[in-house]
Amino acid sequence: MTTTAPDDAARPAAPAPGTGSAPVRLVAPAPGDLVAAVRGRQVLVDGALRAATLRVADGRITAVDAYDVPVDGPVLTAPDHAYVLPGVVDTHVHVNEPGRTAWEGFATATRAAALGGVTTLVDMPLNSIPPTTTTSGLAAKRRAATGQLSVDVALWGGAVPGNLDDLHPLWDAGVMGFKCFLSPSGVDEFPPLGPAAFDAALRTVAAFDGLVIVHAEDPAVLADAPVRPGRVYRDFLASRPHEAETAAIARVVAGARATGCRVHVLHLSSARALDLLADARAEGLPVTVETCPHYLTFDAEAIPDASPAHKCCPPIRDAGNREALWDGLLDGIIDVVVTDHSPATAQEKLRGDGDLQQAWGGVAGLQVGFQAVAHGAAARGIDVARVSRWMATGTADLVGLPHKGRLAPGADADVLVLDPRVPLHVDARALAHRNPISAYDGVELSASVTGTVLRGRVVVRDGAVTAGTGRLLGRP
Ligand SMILES: [Zn+2]
Repeated sequence: MTTTAPDDAARPAAPAPGTGSAPVRLVAPAPGDLVAAVRGRQVLVDGALRAATLRVADGRITAVDAYDVPVDGPVLTAPDHAYVLPGVVDTHVHVNEPGRTAWEGFATATRAAALGGVTTLVDMPLNSIPPTTTTSGLAAKRRAATGQLSVDVALWGGAVPGNLDDLHPLWDAGVMGFKCFLSPSGVDEFPPLGPAAFDAALRTVAAFDGLVIVHAEDPAVLADAPVRPGRVYRDFLASRPHEAETAAIARVVAGARATGCRVHVLHLSSARALDLLADARAEGLPVTVETCPHYLTFDAEAIPDASPAHKCCPPIRDAGNREALWDGLLDGIIDVVVTDHSPATAQEKLRGDGDLQQAWGGVAGLQVGFQAVAHGAAARGIDVARVSRWMATGTADLVGLPHKGRLAPGADADVLVLDPRVPLHVDARALAHRNPISAYDGVELSASVTGTVLRGRVVVRDGAVTAGTGRLLGRP
């Protein structure tokens, strides 16, 4: 961040009431400070970049003004070449607390989120113990999160066999929707739904116009696929074929058609499902889909053997598939990009000494996901405004948080500064994630998040974080 008055003495004791006639004062807000405005030459407003000053009061954006408008109080001024964007809304994060806090936890996850420009995350209902499949599980999760948050957090509920009667109470208690699996999840306490239970869950959730989000891999296709234990990545890839995704997504689409339930396909890896999804959209079905930064960044040919950091389900596929996913985003078939941050301990990742069938599946990327997609987009000549739509506005809209993910009057003053002149060399040990294992280790990215503002408060500036100012969000 640039400042014209770096001296602390220049900072007012408290923001003075704005008169509109005071001279411009640029002071240097420190982490923890509330700002009266955020100013930049490339501010994303209404889908386009322009010079602007975002006025802030009580945690909200009150006006989008001209760049040089006078402001009383602390102003965060981005370098002229930097982008001022809405904070990322990452709707797919596994925090794993309570119960598996050694895998991540609210304190470390939200600190990493803030450093990566993520100002809102939505936590998945599984891997924590208890899972968020009952209102008591939801209460346990909220207790665990309280006081630990560096960014705002909302929670998904879960649909598992036998909890149909819990879904409406969970919805009323404020979960953003319900995750389910069609194939085994990897943890015993969160079993998949069979065909009848899946349809019943869709009918139940449709009755209150909720959202069902689906891990879409077909268990029968997976059961028929060749499983060869070992460290060879292409053997692991062969065990999770494209057809597992296309078959499961066909079922999800059929479920939406039969029940009218809003459904969302999680972590699309196979570009072969894009036609199916485009047809569903053309038919007017309430189907949305996400993909993840790791599917847009890596390719199977370049993944070394014996690297459980790259193991996830569905898997990272070939380079042609990766480019087809980018095309799917540009064509508007894929709606949003989320990290699916799903870390684990070294013990879980290295289970079986590098055997990819035994290793925990999940890529840790919460802190770097946005920067990785911004990098990949820039390399392909794609405007950063589109990245922001996929990772902030689109995701906020998916879960129904209209005051998040946009820079507009009335929205929360959640802002990130992306500096394209500050490259990022990812060192997994230096990330704020609890466990230093990430597929992004050693990756070079072209731009960095250098500042993050949460509801008008500077939570990150040049690598320093203010903890404890995040809130638990429910459905509005
Ligand atoms: Zn996930």
